[in-house]
Amino acid sequence: MKRWKNYVGGAWEAHSTHYLEVLNPYTEKPIAEIVDSDKQDVDTAVEAARKAFKDWKNTTPGERSNLFLKLADAMEHNKQRLAKLESENQGKTIAMATMDIDFSIDNIRFYAGACRALTTQASGIYADTGKKHTPLGESLLKREPLGVVAAVTPWNYPIMMACWKLASVAVGNTIILKPSSLTPLTTIELALLAESVGFPKGVINVIQGSGETVGRMLAMHSDIDCIALTGSTETGKEIMRLASQTLKKVHLELGGKAPFIVFEDADLKKAAKYVVDASIVNSGQDCTAAARVYVHDSIYQKFIQEVKKNAENVVVGDPSKSSTTIGPLVSKKQQEKVSSFIQNLGKTEKVVFQSKVPKNGFFHPITVVKDFEQKGNLCQREVFGPIIALASFKTESEAIEKANDVSYGLASSVWTNNIKKAVEVSNALDFGEVWINDHLPLVSEMPHGGLKQTGGGRDLSIYALEEYTYLKHVYIGLT
Ligand code: NAD
Repeated sequence: MKRWKNYVGGAWEAHSTHYLEVLNPYTEKPIAEIVDSDKQDVDTAVEAARKAFKDWKNTTPGERSNLFLKLADAMEHNKQRLAKLESENQGKTIAMATMDIDFSIDNIRFYAGACRALTTQASGIYADTGKKHTPLGESLLKREPLGVVAAVTPWNYPIMMACWKLASVAVGNTIILKPSSLTPLTTIELALLAESVGFPKGVINVIQGSGETVGRMLAMHSDIDCIALTGSTETGKEIMRLASQTLKKVHLELGGKAPFIVFEDADLKKAAKYVVDASIVNSGQDCTAAARVYVHDSIYQKFIQEVKKNAENVVVGDPSKSSTTIGPLVSKKQQEKVSSFIQNLGKTEKVVFQSKVPKNGFFHPITVVKDFEQKGNLCQREVFGPIIALASFKTESEAIEKANDVSYGLASSVWTNNIKKAVEVSNALDFGEVWINDHLPLVSEMPHGGLKQTGGGRDLSIYALEEYTYLKHVYIGLT
């Protein structure tokens, strides 16, 4: 079984001799080991990234862009192998893993182009001597990289989240990637591919270990300029607290609890099909998954029947088979967490459908729950499992109020054929993303992120690149 050390400064090394097992959630068997890094390993990674920053920050956007394009091509050539590895390590289906990698390739190609076209206010003469047409100085505005970025990533979309954080590298920062200890394998492969296409040593580093130790050390480190986290809201709060000691920049992409609002004039069949796909996507382990489905009273019963019919057609099983719709959850811990939500349903909440699941593997059945309670756990807390939770509403304002009544603000969707209503409701929803008559699509050109306790960080788009830069005003005296 392969034992992975850290990839630091272009070498595979580790001071720590403690290793963690990496499991396949379908077979429940170990498939690799990773080092559980110690303080010395973290310091070595930071030193390597800092050293590499000296040259990397002076590369032109064109040079960085070429390397990004080569990395995207290398990912494309290795797509099948990467998808198989992601599926084995995370439990997602091979089809889903392939889609993740396709999208990651597109993200990298987007960054390759976008880093060549950063924008700021026009440079110009803004100061004069007081005498007409006698300039005092010329102002230039530049976007500079922050320095060393540590990126702590989750287990639900391992390679995709690592690629999103490479936005920082595209604009001249160096990076230390810290993947989840549950799903580190494709991030390691990403670093190997980056090395193979010629990224200089120390520009992209990967450090392994648990969040409670390595993640915390990165957040506190005095020589890291920015810590970017995609993860849970609890971890985001902890990282923000730890990072405050050094006032480093904090970029947070945290939890979500997306409402899916179906009005009486919506295409009911389409919405009932999409809601199943959007709730159980990635076995429900998706921060934008449809987690709270609000359906107009007049179509509620019919909608439930349609959802049940669609849920019955979902195939839960071996993620390596192309006929499988969803695979297991990522871990035993996650399986127990999801089960505990269903075992502790509120008084009005009723299970109306549960699918079958294989005996082995960290599976949870697809579960349709009706009449979820607005103040209950199922509505207010992230479940991250294949649960479809339904409730009814009577008026537009009730739907909006209930949709906004959570601490998260990532994604949401509105289903109606009335364009005026669609616009009104999307304006009233407090979420970074509102889909109309759809749920889930992301594109490289548009920002992804939220507000409230989702954190305010943005991934994807030109705005993600900007988040890893600071504005420098250079003033040239002309007198
Ligand atoms: P998590 O917060 O448990 O872990 C995320 C990362 O943080 C891991 O690398 C982990 O090792 C590290 N970590 C854990 N505790 C830490 C600590 N105390 N200090 C520093 N680092 C620590 O999250 P997860 O369970 O891996 O992922 C699921 C979460 O990620 C969900 O809440 C989901 O909504 C969120 N997520 C958000 C987005 C988004 O775009 N907003 C995308 C994907 C996932």
